Amino acid sequence: MKATAAGLFPSSVSDPPGRDAARVTTLMAAPFIADASMQAPRGTRDFGPEQMAARRDVEARLRRVFESYGYHEVQTPTFEHLELFTAKSGPGIVDELYAFEDKSDRELALRPELTAPVMRYYFDNLKMAPKPVKLFYVANCFRYDRPQAGRYREFWQMGCELIGDAGPVAVAELVAMGVGLVEAAGLTHRELRLGHLGILRAALHAQGVPADDQRALMRLIDKRDDDALRDALPDAADADALIRLFDAPGLDEVRDALGDADAGGALEEVEAVLANLEALGVRRDAVRVDAGIARGLDYYTGVVFEIDAPKLGAEKQLLGGGVYALADVFDEPPVETAGFALGFDRLLVALDEEGVPGFSVKGPDVYAVAFSEAAVPTILACAARLRAAGARVEVEPQTRAPGKALGRADQLGASFALMAGDRELADGVVAFKNLASGDQASVPPETVADRWAERA
Ligand code: AMP
Repeated sequence: MKATAAGLFPSSVSDPPGRDAARVTTLMAAPFIADASMQAPRGTRDFGPEQMAARRDVEARLRRVFESYGYHEVQTPTFEHLELFTAKSGPGIVDELYAFEDKSDRELALRPELTAPVMRYYFDNLKMAPKPVKLFYVANCFRYDRPQAGRYREFWQMGCELIGDAGPVAVAELVAMGVGLVEAAGLTHRELRLGHLGILRAALHAQGVPADDQRALMRLIDKRDDDALRDALPDAADADALIRLFDAPGLDEVRDALGDADAGGALEEVEAVLANLEALGVRRDAVRVDAGIARGLDYYTGVVFEIDAPKLGAEKQLLGGGVYALADVFDEPPVETAGFALGFDRLLVALDEEGVPGFSVKGPDVYAVAFSEAAVPTILACAARLRAAGARVEVEPQTRAPGKALGRADQLGASFALMAGDRELADGVVAFKNLASGDQASVPPETVADRWAERA
């Protein structure tokens, strides 16, 4: 193509019509990425090898806790019908969602949480299963939140749903499991708070707040925004009485603050859960009764609880859950349900704050290297045998001189080096070196897997 004075774009006089447009299109579809697109989108993160090693390690420990309480893992789709979330939380939730239409005009959303999806799955598949049904999940969630430390647009939740029993034994087990998760992660500074929506509703009712207005107040109560609460309460309501109730440090003080308000058995339920928790090893002084936990949403009905990492400031809530009723969203008969979600990323931030030691990426079990081209097939065959025996093997793709090879094995943090050159080939052996002890053996290539098995 002829270069023109006009620069990159040829003049339309010298080029046939159509050609310019084609060239512009080619330029726009340039095969390189603009600077801004090189970064992960706002509120999302890349996790490098060290971070993934740490995340997987903590995750594995937490999975074992769920399993030790008889929970089974499930997985649901990353996106769902938008209606699943609006039916549960109201149309206002759309602003907080990654909602979109697909190519067939279906209204969908990336999941912001998993309670609704897991309950959808339950009603679709497990309704007839013997109760209680105990399900847990580990999954990424998406919210159009304002990103800050501990708050992301893509984050991971580990959570569970307990379906078919929300009595004081089942709920105490659920709460103890929540504590067990945080404990298994190694976090020392944590605070468990436990309340009951029956207490909160009774107090609001006693203050003359109509049921319809209670939902709007829940958010302010949850945030403990006492000034906004005072402004929002009807004139007749005694905001200070409510705040005294929220500040009450124990069940006796809550009872006093409630006065004549009828909490419909909520206090007794909390008492029973606390007793069961104690039997499960969660001491009473490790639980703060908090009548001000509202959980923001109005589908919670009974005991509610949260675990905080106090050191994290505004984003201190690690875990939240309680007894809820969601069956009507699915047009199903009521079933007792309870659950919680743990913010996995926040847990890791909290561990980091406490200085829980980080994790390093594990080196390979065996570094396998050929000193000559002729030895390559032998080294590859040995690597295959070792892998079949369960070893993690790093094959050096280039031939290396012995000194360089050992340097590289050391750099990788390998436990063993498997080496062969022309001399080993001639002797019908490979060299297998324990890099910690320095012991080296010449072994027939067919026996490397046995050598590996004998390593301890
Ligand atoms: P929720 O479903 O809102 O009750 O959240 C349960 C837990 O998920 C919270 O206690 C947080 O630990 C965590 N979480 C919620 N939103 C975010 C977010 N945007 N980024 C990171 N963690 C979050």
